[in-house]
Amino acid sequence: MSVIRKTIDLKKILRLNKIKRNKIGLVPTMGTLHEGHLSLVNEALENCDEVWVSIFVNPIQFNDPKDFKLYPSDPNSDIKKIHSVSKDINLFIPKSVREIYPANPISEKFDFGILDKVMEGEQRPGHFNGVATVLKKLFEIFEPNHVFFGEKDYQQTLIVSKLIDNLFPKISLMVCPTIRNENGLALSSRNNHLPKKYQKICGVIFESLLLAKENCGKMSYLDLNKTIKTKIEKSNSLKLEYFEVRNEKNLEPFTQINKNIRYRAFICVRAKGIRLIDNLLLT
Ligand code: AMP
Repeated sequence: MSVIRKTIDLKKILRLNKIKRNKIGLVPTMGTLHEGHLSLVNEALENCDEVWVSIFVNPIQFNDPKDFKLYPSDPNSDIKKIHSVSKDINLFIPKSVREIYPANPISEKFDFGILDKVMEGEQRPGHFNGVATVLKKLFEIFEPNHVFFGEKDYQQTLIVSKLIDNLFPKISLMVCPTIRNENGLALSSRNNHLPKKYQKICGVIFESLLLAKENCGKMSYLDLNKTIKTKIEKSNSLKLEYFEVRNEKNLEPFTQINKNIRYRAFICVRAKGIRLIDNLLLT
C-alpha cells in the first residue's frame, strides 16, 4: 500500500502506472473513515485493477468556518482501516491544502441548474461549487475510469453526474448503497461528534423516511410534513431543518403520485447542533 502526500509524486506514479493500462477506480473522501466509506472501497476493488482513496478535507465546500474547524480528522487510523481492507489500495492524503490549491483555494462557478439551489444547496450556499471544484481537480489528476460515491449524499451524486456529463464523459459514476448502524442511522464522520445516546435517538431519522415511504400518496404532502416534524422534534435535542420529496432525477418538487416518476424523500436534522442528512427512494 502506498500513501502519497504530494501531488507531484502522485502524478509521477500515475504516469508510470499508465503503461499497465489499469482500470483505475477513485474513491474521494474527507477521511475519518467508517464502514460506509469502506463499502465504496470494496466496490472499487471488485471493479477496478488499481484503487485510489483520496482523503482531503476540502475547505471551500464548508460554508461555515466553525464546521470546517470542527470536522474530525484521524489520518493514522484511516491508514490502518484501509490497510485492513486490502494492502493493494493506494492512498492520497495531501500534505497541505496547497497540494490541491497551489494558489488561493477558491471555488469555480458551475451551472448545475436547480440541483445546487435546493436542500443542501439552499442551506449551504456555495457548498456544491466547492465540491465540484475539488472533484474536477481530482478527476483531472487521476483520470479514473470509475469513481465511487455514496447514495447517502444523493444530491451530491447528481452534481457529480452532471460534472461528469459536462467535462469527463469517459468516467463512469458508481453509486453505492447507504450503510447504517443498528438503529438505522446512516453512518457519517459527523456522527463522531454525537454521544452514543444521541446516535440511538437519531434512529428516528430513518424511521421517518420509512414512514414517508409507507404514506407517500396516502397522506397529503402537508400532513406528511407535519407528522414527520412532530416525530423528529418529539426529542428536545432534534430539530428538523428540512423534509422534502422530490423527483430523484432532476430534484423537481413532488406534486402528485405519477407512476413514471421516481420520488425520493430527503431529510436534514440537527442533533445537538450536528447536521445529519439522509434520503430514501419512495416510489
Ligand atoms: P465524505 O468523507 O463524507 O465526503 O464521504 C465520502 C464518500 O463516502 C461520499 O461519496 C459519501 O456519499 C460516501 N458515504 C458517506 N457515508 C456513507 C454511508 N453511510 N454509506 C455509504 N456511503 C457513504
